[in-house]
Amino acid sequence: MELVNQALSGNRRAMARLISQVENDNSLAAATRATIYAHTGRARVIGVTGAPGTGKSTLVCELAKAYRHAGQMVGIIAVDPTSPFTGGAILGDRIRMRDLAGDPGVFIRSMATRGNLGGLARATADVTQILDAAGYDVILVETVGAGQSEVDIARAADTTLVVEAPGLGDEVQAIKAGILEIADVLVVNKADRDGAANAVRALQAMLDLGATPRTVSHHGVTMTVGVPVSAHSDSASDWRPPILQTVALEGKGITKVVDAIARHQAYLAESDEGETRRRARIKAELEAILRETLLRRLMKNLAPADLAKTVDRIAAREIDPHTAAKELLARLP
Ligand code: GDP
Repeated sequence: MELVNQALSGNRRAMARLISQVENDNSLAAATRATIYAHTGRARVIGVTGAPGTGKSTLVCELAKAYRHAGQMVGIIAVDPTSPFTGGAILGDRIRMRDLAGDPGVFIRSMATRGNLGGLARATADVTQILDAAGYDVILVETVGAGQSEVDIARAADTTLVVEAPGLGDEVQAIKAGILEIADVLVVNKADRDGAANAVRALQAMLDLGATPRTVSHHGVTMTVGVPVSAHSDSASDWRPPILQTVALEGKGITKVVDAIARHQAYLAESDEGETRRRARIKAELEAILRETLLRRLMKNLAPADLAKTVDRIAAREIDPHTAAKELLARLP
């Protein structure tokens, strides 16, 4: 546990080794996770998601600089499910990190898929916990808002930023990925370009539509969204995502984003929502672990040839997939 102690005191090399340990899920990972977990819960986790090219990396870099100026330790986790690389090699390209490189108060890690997106979500949670335990105040988790899994990763944050940009073909990218509903703060980046005002208007209209109360289910948690303030209480306890314009490339508008994040975090602390989110996150994480563990256990007892044979039988309509799954599950020890 020497390594864990070193990581807890902020030793970067020890942190990197711990991250590899949990990523590879080796025999030490369980003990590491258990020790680390007791030291977590202090960091503020900020998810940044949006379509490719909207300027997420540039924005994350600017936010990191702003938090550094305020004396905060900053962790950056860049999740790229489409990339086969991991461990930071691609970050040089993805994020203009020159201003941050070499700053001992910044820890950057990139995560790529290991054949399984659910695993990526869990690995991201593991790395977040290590950074949290090591004393990082703010953890920025950047994901490409392309699918459910990325949305889930972004949702695991305390505050989620959804980034849009004009001129990417569609006026508003969020509709496609369905990520608008997870936004706590909406950022229209590239406000130096034509169409930024249109994008703001379109987002505003979508938020207004969403103001009709509706019930949605996330991870089995039923939530009512879009309820007007007065329906809950007479205080300003209902959060309406602000829409902010930035020119990340020039560092413009960043302070407003930092302020909005701070306001959202104050809101989380004052309302029940902070606790509700925390519990939903824990539940999702627990479910993901159970799912993965059960699947791994099952696969251990299943020869690839058996699986192939079952697929053949299903393809030949000899058996339906549900009955086949039941048969295979019966082999679980
Ligand atoms: P990501 O794919 O969402 O991470 O986007 P990047 O941060 O890599 O940015 C994509 C491209 O947009 C890069 O060439 C950036 O230099 C550029 N970019 C980022 N922010 C702005 C901005 O505010 N205005 C303009 N005009 N370009 C920007």
